[in-house]
Amino acid sequence: MTTKTGGCLCGAVRFEAEGVEEGFGICHCGMCRRWTGGVYAATQTKVVRFTAGEDRVKTYTSSDWAERGFCGECGSNLFYRITLEGPMKGATHLALGSLDELEGMTLETELYVDLQPACLRDGEAKNRLTEAQVMAMFAPPE
Ligand SMILES: [Zn+2]
Ligand SMILES: [Zn+2]
Repeated sequence: MTTKTGGCLCGAVRFEAEGVEEGFGICHCGMCRRWTGGVYAATQTKVVRFTAGEDRVKTYTSSDWAERGFCGECGSNLFYRITLEGPMKGATHLALGSLDELEGMTLETELYVDLQPACLRDGEAKNRLTEAQVMAMFAPPE
């Protein structure tokens, strides 16, 4: 477990998380697919302290047992949190991509693998572009 910092795309929301699990999970359930547009990659954490923009964080109650947090300004997914009374209440799964640094993180668990669409299974795409190639594709003609 480790301490990490992170935030949303626009920078309004910033946080510090303690007890971040280095083994992260991805979820193929239909709700995560809708929420993220693909798969939800997240890591469990013990303590999340917002250092900026806590008032900008919006939550959506996605089921009787959990809510999903996101930035009200830019819409970035930030966390999935258990709300059901019991030992898991408050367990927070931070969006992996919200972390500033992913060094040392490893994929450990996949959930709802039976719901994973065939088009999102492992395998390399026919076209794999580097950052430089993508930038060149969108660069205005000289
Ligand atoms: Zn934001
Ligand atoms: Zn899910």
